[in-house]
Amino acid sequence: MTNTTIIAGAGIAGLTIAYELQKRNMPYLLMEAGPEAGGVVRSLHRNGFELDAGPNSIGATPATLAFFREIGLGSELLEATAAGKNRFLVRHGRLHPVSPNPVKILSSPYLSGTAKWRLFTERFRAPQPPAAEESVTAFVRRRFNQEICDYLFDPILSGIYAGDPARLSVNEVLPFLPEWEKEYGSVTKGLFRNKGLMAGRRIVAFKGGNQVLVQRLQTLLHEPVRYHCRITGVESAAAGYTVKYDAGGQTETIPAARVLFTTPAYATAGALQGLDPVLAHQLHAIHYPRMGVLHLGFDREAVRNMPQGFGFLAPAAVQLHFLGVICNSEIFPSRAPAGQVLFTVFTGGVQQEHFFDEMNDDALQQKILEELTTLLQLQRPPLLRHFSRWDKAIPQLNTGHRQVRAAVQDFEQRFPGIHISGNYLSGVAVPAIIQHAAVLAEKLSSAQ
Ligand SMILES: Cc1cc2nc3c(=O)[nH]c(=O)nc-3n(C[C@H](O)[C@H](O)[C@H](O)COP(=O)(O)OP(=O)(O)OC[C@H]3O[C@@H](n4cnc5c(N)ncnc54)[C@H](O)[C@@H]3O)c2cc1C
Repeated sequence: MTNTTIIAGAGIAGLTIAYELQKRNMPYLLMEAGPEAGGVVRSLHRNGFELDAGPNSIGATPATLAFFREIGLGSELLEATAAGKNRFLVRHGRLHPVSPNPVKILSSPYLSGTAKWRLFTERFRAPQPPAAEESVTAFVRRRFNQEICDYLFDPILSGIYAGDPARLSVNEVLPFLPEWEKEYGSVTKGLFRNKGLMAGRRIVAFKGGNQVLVQRLQTLLHEPVRYHCRITGVESAAAGYTVKYDAGGQTETIPAARVLFTTPAYATAGALQGLDPVLAHQLHAIHYPRMGVLHLGFDREAVRNMPQGFGFLAPAAVQLHFLGVICNSEIFPSRAPAGQVLFTVFTGGVQQEHFFDEMNDDALQQKILEELTTLLQLQRPPLLRHFSRWDKAIPQLNTGHRQVRAAVQDFEQRFPGIHISGNYLSGVAVPAIIQHAAVLAEKLSSAQ
C-alpha cells in the first residue's frame, strides 16, 4: 500500500509543497504536464538584460524572506532601491506621482475636486453593507464614487489581477475594505488605524531573474519532477486513489494515498470531471484572461522623462493599449547593462483581451511603443524588444468565487485525501502561495 502524495503541477506552488512535504518526511511525487518546472515563473537573458515574463517582483513578508534564507537564497536576493516606493498613475496624458496616503492624494491634481470631496467625507457616511457579495465597483461606488473606482481601484487591480473591478469580488481581492467598513464604519478610518498593514514587507527579486527560485527548489527536491505527465483523472481505489495521466500520448495510472492539485482551475476541472462534474464545471468557469508582456530596453539618455520609481499604471478609462509598466532597472539596477534601462509592459487582461483579436502582436507592440514615446518622451527606438504571450494568465476572483470555495471544501470532505490548492484559492501573489504551501503540508503531516 502506497503512502505517496501525488502533487499535480510543478509551478511555484507544487515545488514549494513538495519541499515542505519532504521536510516533514512525507513521500511525494511531483507530476508536471510540461517539459520544465516553474509554471508562469520564467526568466530570459537578452543582450545583458535580465527579463522576467512572469512575476517581476515579490512583496515579501518577513516569513517569505525567512523561507528564501532557509532554502539558501538569502545571498541571491535583490532588494528594491528607495525609488521603488514611488508609484505613478496615468491621466490627462501624463504621469502623476500617487501616494497611498489619502492626505497626499487630496493635494494632487490627479483626482477631480468631486472625487477628493468623496474621499475626504467617506468617514462620515454610515455603512450600509448589502446582504449580497459586492464587486469592487459596487463597493467603491457606495463608499466613494465612480471616479475613484476608475482612477484608483481599477489600475491597482489591473496591476495585480489584470482584472475588471466591475466583476472582481471585493471580499476576495480587497477583503480588508469590507472588514474596515464593518469594524470602523469607514474605509479611510480603517486605513489610518492600520498603517502598519504592510510593515515588514520588502520588494525583492532574485539576481539573474526570478526563475532562480524555481531552480533552487528543484535542486533541493530528492525526488525528481516527472515531466510530460499530464494528470487527466482520479478514481477512488480500495486504499486511496488511482491517478490517471497522459505520458506522451499513452494513458498510465499510478496509485496514491493522497492527491494534491496545484494546477490551474481549468486543469484541475479536467482531472476531477469523473468524480464531481458539478465542481469541475465551477472550476472550469474561472476566467484566466490572455496577457502579453513586452520588454523594452533603451539607452538611458533616450528616455527623456524617466519615472523615478517602481513604475506606472494606466486606468482602463484612459484607453491606452497597456495596463502598466515596471521600471525594472530603477528598482533593480542589475536588470539592465550600465547606461541602459529596462521596462516591462503588461497588456491584455480582462479589459484589454480584445486587442489580441483585433490586431496582431506586432501591431499591438507598435501601438504601445507610440503611447510610451509620448509619455516617456522617448528619443530613439528600443535597443531591445521582446514579447511573451500568456494564453491563460491570472485567475479572476470574481463575484461568486465564495461558492467555488464552498464547493471545494465540500468536495474535500467527500473525498478525503484529495486536496485542491492553486493560486485561485491561496491568493495569486508568490508570498501567499509559499505561505499556503507550508500550511497545507503541516495539515497533511498532522493528519497522518
Ligand atoms: C504575467 C504575470 C505576472 C505576474 N507578476 C507577479 C508579481 O510581480 N508578483 C507576484 O507575487 N506574483 C505575480 N504573478 C502571479 C504569480 O506568478 C502566480 O500566481 C504564480 O506563479 C502561480 O504559481 P502556481 O504554481 O500556482 O501556478 P502555475 O505557475 O500556473 O503552475 C501550474 C503548473 O501546473 C502544470 N499543469 C497544468 N495542468 C497540468 C496537469 N493536468 N497535470 C500536471 N501538471 C499540470 C503547468 O504546466 C504548470 O507548470 C504574475 C503572474 C503572471 C501570469
